[in-house]
Amino acid sequence: MPTTAISLPPTPKRGHYDAIIVGARCAGASTALLLARAGLKVLVIERRPYGSDTLSTHALMRPAVLQLSRWGLLAPLIEAGTPLIETTTFHYGDEEIAIPLDGGPDLPGLIAPRRTVLDRTLVDVARKAGAEFLHDMAVADLFADARGRVRGVEIRGAGAALRVTAGIVIGADGIGSLVAKRCNAQVLRADSVSAAHVYGYAPVEPGAGYHWYFRDGIAGSLIPTNDGLACIVASVPTRLFDQRFRLGHARARMEVLEALSPALAGQADRAAKDARLQAFRGVPGYIRQSYGPGWALVGDAGFFRDPITAHGISDALRDAESLARAVLDGSEGAFATRQQERDLVANQILETTDAIAGFDWTLADIGERHRRFSAVMKAEVQALVGQPMPVCGAASAAGRPTYRAPANQDEPRAPAGASNLYRNRTGARL
Ligand SMILES: Cc1cc2nc3c(=O)[nH]c(=O)nc-3n(C[C@H](O)[C@H](O)[C@H](O)COP(=O)(O)OP(=O)(O)OC[C@H]3O[C@@H](n4cnc5c(N)ncnc54)[C@H](O)[C@@H]3O)c2cc1C
Repeated sequence: MPTTAISLPPTPKRGHYDAIIVGARCAGASTALLLARAGLKVLVIERRPYGSDTLSTHALMRPAVLQLSRWGLLAPLIEAGTPLIETTTFHYGDEEIAIPLDGGPDLPGLIAPRRTVLDRTLVDVARKAGAEFLHDMAVADLFADARGRVRGVEIRGAGAALRVTAGIVIGADGIGSLVAKRCNAQVLRADSVSAAHVYGYAPVEPGAGYHWYFRDGIAGSLIPTNDGLACIVASVPTRLFDQRFRLGHARARMEVLEALSPALAGQADRAAKDARLQAFRGVPGYIRQSYGPGWALVGDAGFFRDPITAHGISDALRDAESLARAVLDGSEGAFATRQQERDLVANQILETTDAIAGFDWTLADIGERHRRFSAVMKAEVQALVGQPMPVCGAASAAGRPTYRAPANQDEPRAPAGASNLYRNRTGARL
């Protein structure tokens, strides 16, 4: 009698890992890559499929490209057909300021890979380094021990549920972070400014650069990405989005692009007739506490800034490296230092980003606001250039890194409002 093969959902190869990471995009896959290269046993769980797309306008700024270059990923991304961007042009009303990008051998230009390319490349390289990935599976909960230290995750997928333990659980799970919620990660800063971004793709000539457009109350961009396409974005304050985009994204976006530049609107008009638009209504920036007993946050889970300055992926990659360094060190001090350093940069990025995303500028002062943002990025790049890779010095003589479970995890201190996963959420079930 013929039998029907039943395909079971993939399960973790081990019952315990040095680190479990929730979320496999730029923050999670990068952290996995760095920890796996240092020899740690890492499991990454992602609820979306391998190679799937996500909301993004793709533009990488200097810090992100530098990180990818330091990690050996820039060449594979360019080989995957991601065009090299050698100029960036600011359009302030009718004025144009073109800036050639000359960053030396580590920065031959900028790139704006589709997330289907960037996130997949990060996953592939992390997997090669030894990290284990489970896609199409969601982390449903965390569990902690009697002292409140997070001990692992509960995974659900295809009807099955199982618990896996780890030295540390890392939330790389984006804005709506389950890890941040379950650990009650304190919100250290919550801003009120937000902008909406509506984008689609249209063919673009080879060799095109980044273009950023500004007129009173509106902005837009043209960002060359893979497959001969440019991502063309209309950006407006969220309140304007709620008023004007309600009745149809396509028409309202085209009106914004027309007002910014008829040439930009003409470029957008070259899109395939069935091309879909993506819309993001906006989320105000925030900074969350980044670690606690047995857990840490990385990327958007810990810090979000409006996409208008195209800096989220730069932040995620920088944050992944600093987290990898803290995990490899394992001391409470290392996590505290990482948080201090992240907050210093994050506050500056948030302030200078909100100064642009708030749309309270005029064409006379927007250039100065961009120069302030650029100065913050310059300092960020300088700091990255001087950083040792987390793998260096982390490996012991036996080739295995000196990894200790973070000391902060066994003696949970409870600063007001900080992590209280044990008390508030999962304590009752332990
Ligand atoms: C409209 C828009 C445009 C942007 N444009 C740019 C740009 O041009 N340049 C730039 O640098 N940045 C840009 N950003 C920001 C950038 O996309 C983010 O900063 C970046 O994606 C953050 O990466 P992350 O890995 O922290 O989180 P995310 O990319 O949000 O990934 C989190 C992942 O976690 C997974 N996940 C969540 N919960 C669970 C769970 N319980 N179990 C399993 N998996 C889970 C999700 O499925 C998701 O894949 C943009 C953002 C938006 C919204």
